[in-house]
Amino acid sequence: MEPVVYTKDLQKIYDLGGGGRVAALGGVDLKINSGEFVAVMGPSGSGKSTFMHIVGLLDEPTSGIYRFEGSDVSTLSADERADIRSRRLGFVFQSYNLLSRTTALENAELPMIYSGVPEADRHRIALEKLAIVGVDSLRDHAPNQMSGGQQQRVAIARSLVNNPGLILADEPTGALDTKSSKEVMELFTHLNKEQGITILLVTHEPDVAAYAKRVITFRDGHVISDRLQDEKVAA
Ligand code: ADP
Ligand code: MG
Repeated sequence: MEPVVYTKDLQKIYDLGGGGRVAALGGVDLKINSGEFVAVMGPSGSGKSTFMHIVGLLDEPTSGIYRFEGSDVSTLSADERADIRSRRLGFVFQSYNLLSRTTALENAELPMIYSGVPEADRHRIALEKLAIVGVDSLRDHAPNQMSGGQQQRVAIARSLVNNPGLILADEPTGALDTKSSKEVMELFTHLNKEQGITILLVTHEPDVAAYAKRVITFRDGHVISDRLQDEKVAA
């Protein structure tokens, strides 16, 4: 089976003008297989978000190879890339990115509007996913009527509605208290174990990374360590 993510000598160079350049990624070789649960760590500025944006087809590398589920992304049209983004990838952000004055149910339904799922199915599927993440009772609540942890659960439900193979989460617990953080990580663990969804998440916190099966550390645009860790039962 093709890896979900394969990169070879992936580079992202920013021209800063005046001859200055930053190698946000200085040649990254990585393979992430289906079913993995990976935490990406590293200091601020080490290239984590740049890597996530390229993997999520939100940005393009300056050079190098990126294959998603076996297809060389550089050969795809903008429509084909948008299709992968909408059908194969789920995104979770630190700041939840829910629409305000919009209910949990409507927020969870949004990606299905873009992917053309009929309205009747949208309600059913969104409710199903809200139930999986444990916030179906909040279906009619707007974001400002929910705690941070509840909002992040809705955002995770939203990431699930098109049945992605890979969830990309950039510091998903960065704005949460310890208890909500733990609950969100238990939820990712459940989605990885029970539904086989591949998870790639960025975190600064060792406690959060401890939930992953593999930890990749970036520094100055390079991978400086890549190790498997024992599965831990959350304390
Ligand atoms: P991290 O997520 O690990 O904090 P980033 O991927 O955001 O790191 O950034 C990696 C490096 O690339 C940093 O030096 C950052 O300043 C630089 N960088 C990121 N985005 C841009 C941009 N749009 N223009 C110029 N430099 C950028
Ligand atoms: Mg970042």
